[in-house]
Amino acid sequence: MADTFKAILVSRDENKNQSVEVRDMAVDDLMEGDTVVSVEATTVNYKDGLAITGRSPVVRRWPMVPGIDLAGTVESSTHPDWKPGDKVILNGWGTGETHYGAYAGKSRVRGDWLIALPESMSPTDAMAVGTAGYTAMLSIMALERHGITPERGPVAVSGASGGVGSVAVSILARLGYHVIASTGRTAEADYLTGLGAAEIIDRAELSEPGRPLGKERWAAAIDSVGSHTLANLLAQTQYGGAVTACGLAQGADLPATVMPFILRGVSLLGIDSVMAPKPLREEAWSRIARNLDTAKLASLSSVIGFDDIIDSANAILDGKIRGRVVVDMS
Ligand code: NDP
Repeated sequence: MADTFKAILVSRDENKNQSVEVRDMAVDDLMEGDTVVSVEATTVNYKDGLAITGRSPVVRRWPMVPGIDLAGTVESSTHPDWKPGDKVILNGWGTGETHYGAYAGKSRVRGDWLIALPESMSPTDAMAVGTAGYTAMLSIMALERHGITPERGPVAVSGASGGVGSVAVSILARLGYHVIASTGRTAEADYLTGLGAAEIIDRAELSEPGRPLGKERWAAAIDSVGSHTLANLLAQTQYGGAVTACGLAQGADLPATVMPFILRGVSLLGIDSVMAPKPLREEAWSRIARNLDTAKLASLSSVIGFDDIIDSANAILDGKIRGRVVVDMS
């Protein structure tokens, strides 16, 4: 009998009712690809929560093994870049959406999607970062390309207790920025100052409808929340500053005016992690390995097992997960 492993499978019936189950699978059940990876660690991102619960249409092929991030060891490959034993990371490229993803003991994928695990990181370190953390790094790199430096002024981070937010706060603080962390969980102030936030603000200051232009409070902002929060971040950005947008935890709408753009030259920088080109991913992961303090990484992550993934998927959508969740698959 072929070696089997556990996998989470989400399915839909003819009435589009979604169900989720754990089942045994073999490599032959996996989708096409030139490389088989033994999954050693994965994580639960907000998007994985949406995929497992069906609260938003993340899954675009049925049935699907969810899980957009994995770290592990190449078991077999016909791709020129990879050989058995190589340690690799995979983020996005449609895994967990259109291609069977990380919530399985093994994954068969395209070698083009993989990047090498940085030498200083273990698979669980990499998944403590995951897509959320790698997106935080992409956001910081976008601000840097815009000319933002610590000398320009503070950087605001919304959704600061979440995955993108926690990693953004940690890395920005390590790089010398004055970080203003916006959170709905002000009881988590110690957690956020521990990560390096200099100031904590209540997210209610940003999440309600605001004025088209406000006091110039920060040189830049990293937003993973969208909606009024993003509009208010733009309205309170200093002349010539920039705001990155990667998420929609509050909403996919953007109820803003053009005033920050046309009167203050503020820029809105879109961030996508899923289809980001490989050189950008490699740069982001090498910067993460250099700029993210491993003690901070440990303090912002909690470790769960495969059997806890489904509960965590619900919890992340309910805003009950602090920082990052690592799934140890061993
Ligand atoms: P998390 O759930 O870990 O973090 C989101 C945070 O947003 C929460 O912790 C909370 O922070 C805040 N928040 C939640 N609900 C609301 C609300 N109604 N109003 C205001 N703030 C709210 O998710 P992730 O960090 O994993 O992802 C964040 C977003 O970024 C998601 O929308 C995700 O889909 C998106 N994303 C996009 C990527 C891309 O490629 N574009 C890649 C990665 C993520 P607090 O409690 O501190 O206020």
